[in-house]
Amino acid sequence: DVTDTKGREFEDFFLKRELLMGIFEKGFERPSPIQEEAIPIILQDRNVLARAKNGTGKTAAYIIPCLEKTDTESKIIQVLILIPTRELALQTSAIVKEMGKHMGIQCMVTTGGTSLKDDIMRLYNTVHIVVATPGRILDLASKKVADLSDVKTIIMDEADKLLSPEFQPVLEQIINFCNKDHQICLFSATFPVTVKDFCKRFVPNAYSINLMDELTLRGITQFYAYVEERQKVHCLNTLFSKLEINQSIIFCNSVNRVELLAKKITELGYSCYYIHAKMQQANRNRVFHEFRNGATRHLVTSGIDIQSVNVVINFDFPKNSETYLHRIGRSGRFGHLGLAVNLITSEDRNNLRRVEQELGTEIRPIPPSIDRSLY
Ligand code: ADP
Ligand code: MG
Repeated sequence: DVTDTKGREFEDFFLKRELLMGIFEKGFERPSPIQEEAIPIILQDRNVLARAKNGTGKTAAYIIPCLEKTDTESKIIQVLILIPTRELALQTSAIVKEMGKHMGIQCMVTTGGTSLKDDIMRLYNTVHIVVATPGRILDLASKKVADLSDVKTIIMDEADKLLSPEFQPVLEQIINFCNKDHQICLFSATFPVTVKDFCKRFVPNAYSINLMDELTLRGITQFYAYVEERQKVHCLNTLFSKLEINQSIIFCNSVNRVELLAKKITELGYSCYYIHAKMQQANRNRVFHEFRNGATRHLVTSGIDIQSVNVVINFDFPKNSETYLHRIGRSGRFGHLGLAVNLITSEDRNNLRRVEQELGTEIRPIPPSIDRSLY
């Protein structure tokens, strides 16, 4: 939820050291929002319906807890990851193997279009985690080649495709082969009605996670500095010299102020572009594109939500919490950390408290120095 400003680390989930190594070696530094939400809940053996946009890291959101839960002392299949297509199943099993490579976990992928005999042979060996398309795993289970009786975690990825009406009976049968005491976790970008109906019957009391389009202040440290209007530029100059800014976006409340401030920042000797609502769209796009490519360090604007800079400064404090969230918040992408600094005049004080209250967040007084690890 947007009120939680604490960015969590992978270390906070009390994962096995071998698993943490696999995660870090994959280059993941900190969990994305869907991972932050889903990992602890899946670890609690609960049913989960998780909805988040494509590209937000859903795969690792279930692979990490699945690896953590797997008991390598046992020689039997414990986790079943169901995937709608062969291609995606191969990719997913590759990630399971990479992340679990220090854990001694055996993962097998089985899909249609390959030799059933080979799969039967491979199931003579120890397999802990199976990644499968529905038809093939049902075939193997029905033939009593794959023993699913100890599967307590069933993952359904791309659940909208997996649970298309004609597939639902197949999945129902697969579930029946699994342990009676199982959890089901569904991941998808969309949850059509047909999926919801299935969930009512087979995924009771599910913990629901919905990160669609949601902006979050998680991972963003927010400060304010009391200033008088005429001190704002001086204060900005101080921030520029004290903070380690990769790139910053500086918000003003009007078009005029954007142009004026951009001029002043340039006069101070910093490279700076500006974008505001009165510029032509093509022009705005061009400037933004160049800023993205690093042409300047600072961008002054009167209101667009642009992500992925490490410092956002409200030169003018916004009039309401919605605008604040759009300026400072991040959508469900990876939880890179960030810093927000608000310049607050006497007129803004009440507004500051209201924004804090409405967003359930904390905006603290700016300390003399700011720990670089926060952003
Ligand atoms: P989704 O299933 O939500 O569409 P994926 O799981 O395929 O998204 O992840 C998209 C990309 O993001 C992948 O390349 C993946 O390696 C990368 N990724 C996922 N989680 C993280 C993370 N915590 N840190 C960095 N990169 C990540
Ligand atoms: Mg996916």
